[in-house]
Amino acid sequence: MNGKIVKGIAGFYYVHVVESGVYECKAKGIFRKDKIKPLVGDNVELEVLDKEEKLGNIIRILPRQNELIRPAVANIDQALVVFAVCKPSPHYNLLDRFLVMMESKGVPVVLCFNKEDIACEEQIAEIESIYRDCGYPCVFASAKEEKNIEEIRKLLQGKTTVIAGPSGVGKSSIINILQPEANMETGGISRKIERGKHTTRHSELFPIDEESYIMDTPGFSSLYVNDFEKEELKYYFPEFEPYEGGCKYNGCDHIHEPGCAIKEAVESGKIHEVRYEDYKEMYEELKNKRRY
Ligand code: GDP
Ligand code: ZN
Repeated sequence: MNGKIVKGIAGFYYVHVVESGVYECKAKGIFRKDKIKPLVGDNVELEVLDKEEKLGNIIRILPRQNELIRPAVANIDQALVVFAVCKPSPHYNLLDRFLVMMESKGVPVVLCFNKEDIACEEQIAEIESIYRDCGYPCVFASAKEEKNIEEIRKLLQGKTTVIAGPSGVGKSSIINILQPEANMETGGISRKIERGKHTTRHSELFPIDEESYIMDTPGFSSLYVNDFEKEELKYYFPEFEPYEGGCKYNGCDHIHEPGCAIKEAVESGKIHEVRYEDYKEMYEELKNKRRY
């Protein structure tokens, strides 16, 4: 029987099997045989030890598509990044750092700007002007009025999605609509019980329908990009791509070089200044990063 690990605590793995619910499993022998530690998100083969009590044993980990370290999770299809259009206004620098991090891991991103119901038009126009040409699907939603939540649900369909964003933007409100109470019960894991019982934070996937999972990640307030070289950074800004070949120097990093097509595109408003400023800031950080 096959399932997906949705949670791991103290040597136990909780494996969600679509037709029959969540099995509590050990992973005897897997470490020795395959030399890999099971991760939340892993698709696994299990042998059932007790059908009534839903106990099992993981006997095989199916090949991984990818894995993230923070949060520790395997087989992520995409990230949904939630900010608010206002209250609080989006922290573009933080968002750009998150986008770079996901680009560097090859994880596609869907952007969601919540609280559309209280938005002033200028805020929305500004957000659109910055992110319109970056190529990320972008949804303006309202958890309060349940507006465009179905559009988000469609984007999550059939996928495993990490949901991230700073606190106060309405992430929990959106998740609660996506994952109704009934679903939580049939999924076998209640968020409320979970929070009361364990104080440590751990990765956990929640099924929102038969083939879609979401993982809530703790709100982030700062993010340093440091696990790649400064020369790679430009490839993580998708809107730079059409201009890359136009620079005077091969291997131009678009910082101080003369005849730089990216800087020209920024000056003529084709690439947004906010994005370019964040690029420069992250470039400096990568340049000065500590080497171990
Ligand atoms: P989280 O910290 O990101 O999980 O945010 P919460 O879901 O706890 O929401 C933070 C605050 O924003 C709460 O007071 C919510 O009632 C409010 N809120 C959430 N979604 C919306 C929305 O779409 N519109 C408005 N006006 N307020 C919202
Ligand atoms: Zn250049």
